[in-house]
Amino acid sequence: MERKQTKQIHVGKVPVGGGAPISVQSMTTTKTADVEGTLQQVYALAANGADIVRITCNDLDAAQGLAEIVPRSPVPIVADIHFQYRLALAALEAGVDALRLNPGNIRKEEHIKTVAREAKDRGVPIRVGVNAGSLDRDIEERYGGAVPEALVESALKEIGYLEDVDFTDIKISVKHSNVPLMVASYRLLSETVDYPLHLGVTEAGPLPGGLIKSVAGIGTLLNEGIGDTIRFSLTADPVEEAKAGRQLLEYLGLRERKGLDLIACPSCGRAEVDVIEVATKAQEALEAEELPIQVAVMGCVVNGPGEASSADIGIAAGRGKGHLFIKGQVVRVVPEEEMVDALLDEARKLVDEGVEARLAAAEAGAAEAAEADRVQLLEIKGDANRAAERRARVAEVVDGS
Ligand code: SF4
Repeated sequence: MERKQTKQIHVGKVPVGGGAPISVQSMTTTKTADVEGTLQQVYALAANGADIVRITCNDLDAAQGLAEIVPRSPVPIVADIHFQYRLALAALEAGVDALRLNPGNIRKEEHIKTVAREAKDRGVPIRVGVNAGSLDRDIEERYGGAVPEALVESALKEIGYLEDVDFTDIKISVKHSNVPLMVASYRLLSETVDYPLHLGVTEAGPLPGGLIKSVAGIGTLLNEGIGDTIRFSLTADPVEEAKAGRQLLEYLGLRERKGLDLIACPSCGRAEVDVIEVATKAQEALEAEELPIQVAVMGCVVNGPGEASSADIGIAAGRGKGHLFIKGQVVRVVPEEEMVDALLDEARKLVDEGVEARLAAAEAGAAEAAEADRVQLLEIKGDANRAAERRARVAEVVDGS
């Protein structure tokens, strides 16, 4: 998809906008003064796909915590600032890689300009983070609510202050908890400015609704080429936010696959195993190995290997056995209780040796044994759509018999 061209800024070592890979952000939930606890969470977020982490800077203890956290962090740190512009100055002194300012609650022009001048001197970018829930009351009243035009005007007003002091190292968000309004706000903003955009549905809530809202809002905009960095705001362990953000980008083809992509059939009456149990076990085992492959777990051999033929590797159940396949070709048939172990073993070899080598190493007779199982199952259970039976019934109607 064609991406909207935006100005590029750098949050520490991470480029944002201007064709850079779309980055994933998350935010810690610890008290910032708890340096070790916060750093542990930052490391967990980085390990699960976060490129940038935001940390609240809500008092002096937090600012002092940042001074210790920033030099030890594996990823750039953004300080989240509300109400007190002096905490933005303190966060800059602590060495943060970016600031997030909320125009709804830091309103004094002179305060904003003071922060911008200091950030400019230090080469630190600022996110203008407009939030429908904390919009400037004057603007909200004028528009009669937190409508897209109001959110964008709030952002433009703040950008005006920053540009007045020649500060253009800016990214912007206009978050709303209502998905259609969030999408409309970002579309309007994207038409209006060339600064990079940080996408998010604010206060999306717990799983699964929060995840669905975020995917609907962020995914819609990314598919239109809008957005340079994203955050899922979930009422959940922030590691889930980082994972979800990363996965969304991978599924949309906007970032290279870094880890496992497990696909599994939804299961049905034809399933020969408990697909949920096997898929869960396989996911746990494969995620622990961090193998960058697509793996399929299919409940039956009748449709499984064919439907999942695009997966790098997969397993389908049938007649007490597991049929292990690579790119749709059966390479081994193993007892059902060994399915997950065999899948893990073959997945490791596939990553080490490649598809051609593993297809060449297929067990003699595996494909034939698998086909025999498939034919037998078809005989026992009938084909998926009971085609022969349905055709016969149609013929009977035509015959009038
Ligand atoms: S692969 Fe087999 S068990 Fe799974 S949904 Fe398809 S027909 Fe049902």
